[in-house]
Amino acid sequence: MTQTSAQTAHYVPADLPTSIRHFIGGEFVDSVGGQTFDVLDPVSNQTYATAAAGQQADIDLAVAAAKDAFDNGPWPRMLPRARARVLNRIADAVEAQDARLAELETFDTGLPITQALGQAQRAAENFRFFADLIVAQADDTYKVPGKQINYVNRKPVGVAGLITPWNTPFMLESWKLAPALASGCTVVLKPAEFTPLSASLWAEIFRTAGVPDGVFNLVNGIGEEAGDALVKHPDVPLISFTGETTTGQTIYRNCAANLKGMSMELGGKSPAVVFADADLDAAIDSTLFGVFSLNGERCTASSRILVERSIYDDFCARYAARAASIVVGDPHDPRTEVGALVHPEHYAKVLSYVEIGKTEGRLLSGGGRPAGLPERLARGNYVSPTVFADVAPTARIFQEEIFGPVVTITPFETDAEALALANGVKYGLAAYIWTTDLSRAHNFAQSVDAGMVWLNSHNVRDLRTPFGGVKASGLGHEGGYRSIDFYTDSQAVHITL
Ligand code: NAD
Repeated sequence: MTQTSAQTAHYVPADLPTSIRHFIGGEFVDSVGGQTFDVLDPVSNQTYATAAAGQQADIDLAVAAAKDAFDNGPWPRMLPRARARVLNRIADAVEAQDARLAELETFDTGLPITQALGQAQRAAENFRFFADLIVAQADDTYKVPGKQINYVNRKPVGVAGLITPWNTPFMLESWKLAPALASGCTVVLKPAEFTPLSASLWAEIFRTAGVPDGVFNLVNGIGEEAGDALVKHPDVPLISFTGETTTGQTIYRNCAANLKGMSMELGGKSPAVVFADADLDAAIDSTLFGVFSLNGERCTASSRILVERSIYDDFCARYAARAASIVVGDPHDPRTEVGALVHPEHYAKVLSYVEIGKTEGRLLSGGGRPAGLPERLARGNYVSPTVFADVAPTARIFQEEIFGPVVTITPFETDAEALALANGVKYGLAAYIWTTDLSRAHNFAQSVDAGMVWLNSHNVRDLRTPFGGVKASGLGHEGGYRSIDFYTDSQAVHITL
């Protein structure tokens, strides 16, 4: 690790690659046509590397390698225990280099280093979890006495196309790679073009762990080029996608021609509902974490806070004071709580919502670039944690996903009004309910449009639980056996007795 003069220069990890290549059939390669794109770091907004920009020809090669490994290689035919050993070695390798992974992820994404470290460790846990799961996997058998035996013959689907976004890229890739590989599929990963750095690290990790060549393939590139070619490729029977709802809709249409299996983890605008009887200290802690951790670039961010009128003023005052004290700074500094947003394009989008918010709500905290950033951070994509109160449900900042450190607060009078506000957006990913009334909490969970609900609880979840959204937030659920179900076919075999 190097740091050029802490006071005056921007932190740059040692041995940073200057070119990021595809990984196809066990080899690092450039694009067939030689195309590249620039990769920026979000603190200096300077190009630090060029990445191979995959086109149809590169996707064709990657899919052919994955298909050959699936049709002729050992991976889909290995015993679950043998595959699990490889997956555990992957987890070991990720854990062993978690600090380096976090450092590179932080440099590429602008995420605070302590949070990037947690995400790297979570990536290891994903591999360990799916290793355990496939060893414990049991499938159904049915007997019709004297007539038939029926059993489920679970088979990996084939070449899985994995398309991932730029927020917590390494961890989100692991959330797809681990179950796909555990199931015996071979894969082509197309990571987000804003943040290709950490994805390239999988290649060496997998090779060292004993993943056969061709099982893992990586093609970098622009979504509309490399991503589109992967989605439309006839030898890729399923696509697991995480990203924006509008991109998901395009992919959905493009999968239709080949009737592909699809898993869609899409955008969110999740409510946190705080009733007057809630443990207010815990609710404030958690709702701050919910929207300002990971720079607010979190799909399950509690970006709309709904607060019962009788505690509204107190909540707003305390919340705004806490938001104002959040440490915004160098992503590599362990004290930093909000780092730099991922890319100038995204930064401009978030800032534009902050300006819209000034016309739609009452600004309590933040509201633009933080004042007094040191010179070494002056060109970074920084946005102060921003809080708007009195935001009407018709406001754009209430309805639209901002995906940055910006939160709205809206009062409500009754449970029914709270529910109407919570459900009054097109999204339905997560909901957070704060109340000490147990029956209200469960009734609210029952009625709220959300794939995942946290009652008096931080955004922490057990890997066995379903993950996914309803309405415009997604299609299908991943997590636990649901992920294995997605990457496998359950063939029914019937035998006459
Ligand atoms: P995005 O939709 O712009 O891009 C996601 C990926 O899709 C990228 O790899 C991109 O290159 C690719 N892509 C873009 N157009 C494509 C096309 N036409 N065909 C194939 N691939 C294409 O999303 P983003 O900006 O990278 O990520 C942020 C979004 O992701 C937010 O909306 C966030 O809520 C969502 N997200 C959802 C979850 C979840 O689990 N529900 C998790 C993380 C992020």
